[in-house]
Amino acid sequence: MAPVTKTSPNYTAGRGGSAVDRIVIHYIVGTLAAADATFADPNSGVSAHYGIGEGAVHQYVSEKNTAWHAGNFAMNQRSIGIEHSADAVRPPSQSTYTASIELCAQLCRTYGLNPLTQIIPHSSVVATACPGTVDLQRIRNGVKARL
Ligand SMILES: [Zn+2]
Repeated sequence: MAPVTKTSPNYTAGRGGSAVDRIVIHYIVGTLAAADATFADPNSGVSAHYGIGEGAVHQYVSEKNTAWHAGNFAMNQRSIGIEHSADAVRPPSQSTYTASIELCAQLCRTYGLNPLTQIIPHSSVVATACPGTVDLQRIRNGVKARL
């Protein structure tokens, strides 16, 4: 699924010399439209590279730049952040998983990542409930099967 470009003012130009070696998985606690609104708001101070949900993939920040998603700047500099439409009682839809696996497989090819160890949950970076109802192993296994 081709990403639709959205803009966010919430990023740092470049990556401070860091190579991309992680994909950090998040859930929106809402729909993709909620992510669009939050990431477009300069007062939110947050962003991600990609958001997936409701049959669409949105790109907010260039992969060349540092998005503000992991709550840890060094991790932001070395990672791609992907948000998923879901909340505490609504897991991602089948189409969201399908699009996420496709995107993550493409990223793993581009950056030479091992999906089983380099696609990580936000909760492994900082103490957070994120990525909530996202089944991370389903994404890892789906990507591995496609590489
Ligand atoms: Zn998160």
